[in-house]
Amino acid sequence: MRPDALLPLFAPLTSLPGIGPKLVRPYGRLLGREMPRVLDLLFHMPSGFVDRRARPTIAEALPETDVTLEVRVDSHQSPPPGSRAPHRTYVSDASGDMVVVHFKMDPARLEHMLPVGQTRWLCGRISLYDGMRQMTHPDRVLDAAGLAKLPAVEQVYPLVEGLAAGHVRRAIEAALQRVPELPEWIPADLLAERGWPAFREALARVHRPANPHEATPAGGPWRRLAFDELFAHQITLALLRAQEEKAGGRATVGDGHISARLLSALPFRLTGGQEQAVAAIRADLAADTRMLRLLQGDVGSGKTVVALMAAATVAEAGRQTALMAPTEILARQHHETIAPLAEAAGLSVNVLTGREKGRARTAVLTELQHGRTDIVIGTHALIQDDVIFRDLALVVVDEQHRFGVEQRLTLARKGEAVDMLVMTATPIPRTLVLTLFGDMDSSELREKPPGRQAIDTRAIPLDRLDEVVAAAGRALSSGARAYWICPLVEETDTSDLAAATERFEVLKSIFGDKVGLVHGRMSGAAKDEAMARFASGETRLLVATTVIEVGVNVPEATVMVIEHAERFGLAQLHQLRGRVGRGDKPSVCLLLYRAPLGETAKARLAILRESQDGFRLAEEDLRLRGEGDVLGTRQSGMPGFRTARLEFHSGEVEAARDAAAQRIKADPDLAAPEAAPLHTLLHLAERDGAMRLLSAG
Ligand code: ADP
Ligand code: MG
Repeated sequence: MRPDALLPLFAPLTSLPGIGPKLVRPYGRLLGREMPRVLDLLFHMPSGFVDRRARPTIAEALPETDVTLEVRVDSHQSPPPGSRAPHRTYVSDASGDMVVVHFKMDPARLEHMLPVGQTRWLCGRISLYDGMRQMTHPDRVLDAAGLAKLPAVEQVYPLVEGLAAGHVRRAIEAALQRVPELPEWIPADLLAERGWPAFREALARVHRPANPHEATPAGGPWRRLAFDELFAHQITLALLRAQEEKAGGRATVGDGHISARLLSALPFRLTGGQEQAVAAIRADLAADTRMLRLLQGDVGSGKTVVALMAAATVAEAGRQTALMAPTEILARQHHETIAPLAEAAGLSVNVLTGREKGRARTAVLTELQHGRTDIVIGTHALIQDDVIFRDLALVVVDEQHRFGVEQRLTLARKGEAVDMLVMTATPIPRTLVLTLFGDMDSSELREKPPGRQAIDTRAIPLDRLDEVVAAAGRALSSGARAYWICPLVEETDTSDLAAATERFEVLKSIFGDKVGLVHGRMSGAAKDEAMARFASGETRLLVATTVIEVGVNVPEATVMVIEHAERFGLAQLHQLRGRVGRGDKPSVCLLLYRAPLGETAKARLAILRESQDGFRLAEEDLRLRGEGDVLGTRQSGMPGFRTARLEFHSGEVEAARDAAAQRIKADPDLAAPEAAPLHTLLHLAERDGAMRLLSAG
């Protein structure tokens, strides 16, 4: 039962003043949840801040930096009726003059806001236009009273189309009014040592920082919130571990007959890394403890085959394997890789995703329950209650950091003492492994299968788009297949990025039916269809959002174009690039960026051109982020965490591990009265799985 004190936080967002039913959709997109709640908004963390204390004169103000200017309003110039020209307001100070530009706004309102002859304060960024200083749509136009209320530091939030910055700020302000005082769950000595504020205070200060330091993940208030989250996560992991130890393991030993058939059906030989990984997994399966192993390997390093070998051993023992992938595309693709090999080896494979419905779904469930399926491949549809196995012994989770611990737990509960193999294509530094999974064994596939060619990677400014289109055209007419990646409008705070659909229309008008489109808002069936058409060669240029980021395998694709490469993190760019260079033909990756590049973005693209070693790139990525790329914090958020950021909070990770271990050791069921605040925390962090463990224990 959720503690009453938390009810205002779990109330729907529409319970806040000013948020009507019409805003549910845009806020839903902003917060990544269909029916957003008050707490989702409270944990919508800033992506940067503006220091409103910068008060240069007009002449001193640097272009493209946030400033607050004190100006005198000189005159107005409205466009003639019907014209699309902007309204101009001429302003000046002792150092010079400037024009304020507003599009599509009522002139009377502007003349009222900026009365001629009066002093006003303008917050915003200036740019140079035709040699004239100009401020387009100031963030703020203030009179003296407004200026007195202007906060020194103002947070900037990621936005989506249809939501203005001011609206989100006011909504967060309203949400802050609903935050209750909660009992303290952080151990008193730790709290005192770090000097952190209480939960409610911490939230208030993250959103209304008193100074620039407090505005960032490095500040105390943000650290505290990150600790809370990590603490809840570590408690969950500790409970999970205790439970798994109590349950013990089960030995799964095969006689090798299916594995042998499988090996001879493979059209290639296993690499050394694959052989080692398979041997380690076999030993884990045969031991009567539970396996919890991470299989890390760069894109294309051949993890699926390793998983299939493990499944073969399990099938030899008459038991079943479930393989869970984060998306339908990936689940189907695993199926395509696995099905022909499995058939040759005499293994039966089935698929279960949200798309299997009615009779088809019932058929899959029946086969599973009677043990006629050796391997089931699916999405989180696998964890539904009516999915029952005859004897599930191995769970393979692909790209696990997209799943919560609870989902892994729910799937594992469908069998007895289930062994767990977690596959990831994103090389994860050790600290992050500890954070996300707790203690875990790990196998790495560092060598690529033989015959792969290096990918020629180039960075090109966006204003040379025409050349890139021409090059893509040449590639297409020579029979190549190409991906064209666009960042999603919804994922960014400016709306001027190339949306996939727009780019699709443009490219289609040039190349015609050869162009396909796939993006995350399409239905599962439509996505699969678009992928299938590309895989078969029916379409040859696939415009896509990052839905194809992980795992997609079309060996014939040799060209990868990434628009706004400066917007992506290094790891993600590497993932995307890994979609090409999978066959035996040379491949190219064109990184289109908008000039000028910031230092970090420049370094990122340079490293990418230089290296194709995912492990090295992962380390460099962390290092670059550590160098104060504060504006990139949202992008670098840890998957599954709202506030914790690895590059800032590794100290909190360790503190949370220690604190959790101490608590669980002293009070394994969290039953003591002092543990009550921790129950509140677990609810707040939505660690329902942990709560179930407690009630089951
Ligand atoms: P990952 O899942 O690690 O990104 P996959 O398992 O999808 O990689 O493998 C990528 C491709 O490489 C597949 O087409 C697979 O059949 C092939 N492959 C896997 N192992 C080898 C190997 N040892 N030699 C040659 N090709 C391999
Ligand atoms: Mg894969």
